Amino acid sequence: MNLIFFGIPGAGKGTQAKIIAKKLRLCHISSGELLRSTAGSMKKEISDIINKGNLIPDELMLKLLVKHIANQKCENGIILDGFPRNINQAQLLDKEINIDKVVEIKISDNESRKRLFGRVICEKCGEGYNNYTAPKPKVKDMCDICDSKLIKRKDDNLDAIINRIEQYHKETEPILNYYRDKVLKIDGERDIQEISEDILKNLI
Ligand code: AMP
Repeated sequence: MNLIFFGIPGAGKGTQAKIIAKKLRLCHISSGELLRSTAGSMKKEISDIINKGNLIPDELMLKLLVKHIANQKCENGIILDGFPRNINQAQLLDKEINIDKVVEIKISDNESRKRLFGRVICEKCGEGYNNYTAPKPKVKDMCDICDSKLIKRKDDNLDAIINRIEQYHKETEPILNYYRDKVLKIDGERDIQEISEDILKNLI
């Protein structure tokens, strides 16, 4: 089963993708994490684009993604988190992978802003937390998993947040119409566990 987890920045795509991927034994592929972990000559160019809240060029993004998927063992399928982000990427993806369902996790713009301002990640393992909403770290500024320091993502600054939300409505949201027969709508403003149960119930 190949799934896309879809939603405005901060909707909880990554959090839910991680939980559902574990339950259904799917590979969780986050385009944002893939880009943040890219090393080598393209690293600076990529992080400059990300930190302004702009999108990486489509062809480059697809090339990185397809190569990454080919290097994983994903017998049961994948969950794409953060890809596609515009119609062109969706059309390019269609040539590579058959998508079974698009899980749209829905939250308001206000909630998105609040979550992105409060978001912190572990500087070592990348685990995500939130100072205002869930999941909160057990000890402030410290990762529950590896005890390392929690930091803000560079693109969780005011200008980039405004840009990313605008871009979502302009470029990413229209994809829902492209996939209209495959969309599963999920209310994302609930408990993390309640949301995962809802997704699972509707997928299996
Ligand atoms: P995310 O971790 O999904 O919030 O993504 C962080 C940033 O990575 C985005 O704001 C973009 O700059 C870049 N990015 C992630 N996915 C894509 C994509 N599919 N196409 C282009 N840029 C992307």
